[in-house]
Amino acid sequence: MFKEVYGERVAEWEEPFEAISSQHFFMGGVRIDQECRTTIEGLFAVGEVTGGMHGANRLSGVAFTEIFVLGPVAGRTAASFAGREGFVSPDAAQVNEEIGRLDNLFRQGSGARPFELKAAVQDVMWEKLGPVRDGEGIEAAISAFERIEREQATGMTVGSSDTTYNRDRMEAIELPLMVRTAQLVAHAALLRTESRGSQFRTDFPERNDKEWLRNIVMKKDEHGRVGMRIEKTVEAA
Ligand SMILES: Cc1cc2nc3c(=O)[nH]c(=O)nc-3n(C[C@H](O)[C@H](O)[C@H](O)COP(=O)(O)OP(=O)(O)OC[C@H]3O[C@@H](n4cnc5c(N)ncnc54)[C@H](O)[C@@H]3O)c2cc1C
Repeated sequence: MFKEVYGERVAEWEEPFEAISSQHFFMGGVRIDQECRTTIEGLFAVGEVTGGMHGANRLSGVAFTEIFVLGPVAGRTAASFAGREGFVSPDAAQVNEEIGRLDNLFRQGSGARPFELKAAVQDVMWEKLGPVRDGEGIEAAISAFERIEREQATGMTVGSSDTTYNRDRMEAIELPLMVRTAQLVAHAALLRTESRGSQFRTDFPERNDKEWLRNIVMKKDEHGRVGMRIEKTVEAA
């Protein structure tokens, strides 16, 4: 296979080739129960967007197993909820609030284009929050995300007002979600002062079962602030 993909000379070690790690799976995510319910009524989740199934590191091949096993469970739970509740009209005030938020995002600013800020988030994640991390790098990442958040709030340049397949608008919608997710990853990584699974902290290279058989749970409060809670896992209880 190696020969087929990279050629004879590389397979025979005659030519150097670059081997790098790459993003394979997102450890952590939305909390679900056994029936794939989230903590928001009527919202169900399954697969890579959920957290906790694989502990600190997913074993090879098990993501597909998860989907095949839990996909039908989520489907059945969602179908039974929909059958029970029928059609639920969305709350008009919430819809208007969301329209206002999007209009604000799309207003013509003079700042960076959304794709530029997105690339900046990706660069920081790559440089500072790969599997090998340290406290200093994570703190630098947190400051960088705050800067990006400020830039995004002061008015990005959204190139066109077209409402059909407008990449700039799509990027503008995705960017705040990406920044928020990156911030959650960074804060959890900083809090976990040990190495475990897919997190290797060079400043805390050892696994610490005594203090860290724990899950980090993050939740937004009614004022929009994100709080962090450390929970014991079953093994530690
Ligand atoms: C390079 C690579 C190799 C891998 N190899 C393996 C392997 O060999 N074995 C294994 O078990 N796992 C493997 N994985 C992991 C596995 O592929 C994923 O965990 C799995 O595919 C996730 O499935 P999912 O359905 O949960 O999410 P996804 O496959 O990511 O599906 C989510 C879908 O939602 C769509 N979506 C997102 N936002 C919206 C929105 N707002 N509106 C509508 N749709 C939206 C996306 O376009 C996407 O189609 C690999 C992953 C990578 C990256």
